[in-house]
Amino acid sequence: MASPASDLRAEPDPSVAELLAARAQLRMDPFEGLMLEEVALRTVADALGTPVWVTSAGTLRGRYRQLADALDEAGLDAQLHYAVKANDHLAVLRVLQAEGAGADVVSAGELRRALLAGIAPDRIVFSGVGKSDDELMLALDSSIAQINVESREELDRLSVLADGAGRVARVVLRVNPDVDANTHAKISTGRAGDKFGIAHDEAPGLYALAATLPAIEPIGFAVHIGSQIADPAPFRAAYARVAALVRQVRAAGHAVSTVDCGGGLGIGYRDEPAGSPRALAHAIRLTLGGLGLRLLLEPGRWLAAPAGVLLSRVVRVKRQAEGPPFVVLDCAMNDLLRPSLYDSWHGVVPLSARDAVAPALPVHLVGPVCETGDTLARGRLMPELSCGARVAILDTGAYGSVMSSTYNARPLAAQALVDGARWATIRPRQPVAALWAGESVPDWIAAAGAGTAG
Ligand SMILES: *Cc1c(COP(=O)(O)O)cnc(C)c1O
Repeated sequence: MASPASDLRAEPDPSVAELLAARAQLRMDPFEGLMLEEVALRTVADALGTPVWVTSAGTLRGRYRQLADALDEAGLDAQLHYAVKANDHLAVLRVLQAEGAGADVVSAGELRRALLAGIAPDRIVFSGVGKSDDELMLALDSSIAQINVESREELDRLSVLADGAGRVARVVLRVNPDVDANTHAKISTGRAGDKFGIAHDEAPGLYALAATLPAIEPIGFAVHIGSQIADPAPFRAAYARVAALVRQVRAAGHAVSTVDCGGGLGIGYRDEPAGSPRALAHAIRLTLGGLGLRLLLEPGRWLAAPAGVLLSRVVRVKRQAEGPPFVVLDCAMNDLLRPSLYDSWHGVVPLSARDAVAPALPVHLVGPVCETGDTLARGRLMPELSCGARVAILDTGAYGSVMSSTYNARPLAAQALVDGARWATIRPRQPVAALWAGESVPDWIAAAGAGTAG
């Protein structure tokens, strides 16, 4: 089996001090231990137990403003539509809504969450390759800002549904620009052959067709090339493709008012360069600026990932005759899937200031789930941890809790929100009985087992 990338890295893992120095929202207090904003994380772990997700409202706000400011400074008329799938908790949506965010949703559930959080329908866009009839109808009935159409087949279906409902659907065509974002294959979405979007050479024809449909109003284009992208070059290449389409379609006599620039801006999980809002704004300005367009962005990870940590406790330290010990945590791949799914690297920092300065040794950090893939890190250089020690897994605010499952009959972890010196529980730990609450055993099966049970 291929080794996770962390086995192969030449550079030593960043130290606890280096991880904290790169994250303004976190610091180590000599008495209180690890602090997220002004809250000692051990207080949250004491009250709610582990594993527990903790989200920083202040970090969400700060990052939203940083991105909005970068777009303003570049002179762009741009609106941020938070990609709800990154972290769809109502409190997260509400914090961002209060900052002025709209939403990018990919399902009926996300659309309803966004509305519930108070995001105005005219600030909601709906993306995704497989919207069902029910989802398209909900989008039409909710009068959302636009539906991002991903295929000719979807356009046809939407036209029929909108016509039948006596509505006009505002549509942007999502284009596949055939640009390689040089990101992990599982989160690349803008290459020819990826399932997303309309081939860019077919887009002008489809736009012209859409303009002839009475229940469809085409207003522009969308593009989203993937996630965790730091290099502005693929963004620039994709936006240049879209700018060319805008010119071509306008030259053919059609109105184009809107370009949705998607999401994808990356963060520094380890020591790789983080995506820069200013560089992204510059890439947009160079390509799409000056076309008189209303611009949308759909950031998810960049806003939410650094705002969250996952707190966990060491349940066992299992030594081997040879090689690093296994440090078994009480969180697992069912809580945080990213390391198993994408070989992703997450910083791990002890909650206690004393633990944080223990001599560093290589360890394998694993969870209790019965899968070898349930591995958070292999050979990670960590301050020595003993049983009962608690840690924070960093940058888990995006694609963290939303990807959790109850595999191995492990209830969903609790969630808390930190805001300055205040904190609150925003979801209690799922009671274990909730796992089978909706299940039933058919009568004839229950009867057959009745005589032999016990
Ligand atoms: C996932 C997704 C986003 C958000 O991507 P991030 O990398 O989290 O910024 C934006 N737009 C669309 C269409 C998406 O599928």
